[in-house]
Parts: sequence; structure tokens; C-alpha cells
Amino acid sequence: MLGLLQGLGKFGLSELENLNVYEDEKKTTAQDKDIKEAPHMIQEEDYLFDKTYECPVCYQKIKARTVRTGRAKLVRTDIYLRPVYENIEPLKYEVISCPCCGYSVHSRYFGGLTGLQIKAIRDTISMSFSSPTDEKLTYTYEEALGRYKLSLACAIVRRAKASEKAYICLKAGWLLMSMEDALKAKAASEAENQECQQKLKEIRAEQNEFLKNALDGFLAARQTEGPLAGLDESTVEYITAVLAVRFGQYETASRILSGILTAPSTSSRMKDKAVELKQILIARVKEKNEQKK
Ligand SMILES: [Zn+2]
Repeated sequence: MLGLLQGLGKFGLSELENLNVYEDEKKTTAQDKDIKEAPHMIQEEDYLFDKTYECPVCYQKIKARTVRTGRAKLVRTDIYLRPVYENIEPLKYEVISCPCCGYSVHSRYFGGLTGLQIKAIRDTISMSFSSPTDEKLTYTYEEALGRYKLSLACAIVRRAKASEKAYICLKAGWLLMSMEDALKAKAASEAENQECQQKLKEIRAEQNEFLKNALDGFLAARQTEGPLAGLDESTVEYITAVLAVRFGQYETASRILSGILTAPSTSSRMKDKAVELKQILIARVKEKNEQKK
């Protein structure tokens, strides 16, 4: 099995590769390869600038490559609500990572930490962390995925909520979908095809692992957290439903979709999405029942 956190060895943190993502919730609630992107005219770095933060663990000033607001052009949103942009994958630049102590966090969750959390990060992450690269203008998918894994490890270590860990897993899953798209474009050329097929398999396996963990985390968060801080409720509900469909949890998906469709607060755009997903769900259930016959 590919570990969610496999590859942290690059950061000197190979001991963390086997951390369990939702162990805490269960206890308390009874619940590489370098892939180059397709070449394009506009440089990825044209969309980026350095944003400065103060690391809440070691208090050093850190610079994070950040996508300029409004610069990237949205092409479409897929069924998982993953936005696809022209010429750039902004997902690669959402994790803030301190090159001094290794503390990493998704920008949505950047903020102050408690003394206990700081100590936990210092003892578990910073002690063995080694920064793998010099500062870079752009990241490869592989580098970006490493940053997500580091932020997941930090979230586990500082006992972040299930919803935050689920959110990181979702974003990493989306990143792997984008990675798959980029690789498929490359595989279109015959010469690259053989090697690409093997990589595609690995990417899909890792994608499933992250997305399954996102589903488990969002389902756990529904039980324990109530409204999820800063996240639009019907969006999270929809994403949970679409992931439940992906992993064959049809009853769960059906229940959540009914909730979305009957809630007065659901936007008409989200209702349309939910209706679309319901059609897919009905087709899947029918397919499954026919197989049983
Ligand atoms: Zn730091």
C-alpha cells in the first residue's frame, strides 16, 4: 500500500510516514516521480508573487509563492468541484511551508498555535526536518505533493480537527487529479506512453488514498464538529456526497444529497450540481443491482 505520507523521508521525516490520519477521531468518537507539465507560452511564474508570513513555530519570516488574485483564468470546474485553470495549477501553491523548522500548513488554516502545538511540532517535525531544496520560483507536481504531505503530517502532530485534515486530503487528491491530466496529455505521444501508463497507475492509487481519507474525515467531521469553520456547508456536503459515490457508499451519498436538495439555504448552482450527481448515483445503483441479478 502506498502511504499517504510516503516520501516525507525527503524532509528527514521518514519516521512520520506511517502516522495515522484519523486515529484521534476513532478513539474519541468510536469512529515519485518528477512530472513536468505540458509546455505553454505564458510562464507559470508570471502568475506568482512572494507573500511573507511569520512562522508560528520558529518565528522566522517565511516567503510563500502565492498565486496573484484574479490573474489565473478559470476554464471549468469538474464534478468534484475541482477548478481547472488555464496555464497554471494554483493548487500547487496553497501550502505554506517554513524552510527553517518544517512547519507546514494549508493557507486557509494559517494562524497562531497553542504552546502545546508548537512544542509538538518542534519535537516531532523540526527536530529531524531538513529542507530538501533551495527556494524555487515554481513547483513541480511532485514538490507540491510533498508540501501537502508535510502539512498533513503537521496537522496530525498538532491534533488539528478532522475537517482540516480532510480538507488537506481533498486538495492533495485534486492535485493528483490535475497531475493525472498533465500526464495523460504527455502520454498522448507514443514514445512516452509505456512509461506514463505505469506512473498513471501509481497516481490513481495515491489519488484514491487521499480522496478516501478526505471522505472519512468529512464524514467524521459531520458527527463531531457541526458547521465547519470557514467552509461553505453545502459545498462540503456536496463534496462528501460525490466522494461517497466514488467509493460506492451509495446510501450515504443519497442521504446527503437529499439534505442538499431540501435545504432552503442551498444555492441554485449547488442544487443543479446535486441533481446532476443524483442522476449519476441512480445509474450506479441500477448498475450494481443488475450485477447482483
Ligand atoms: Zn518555522
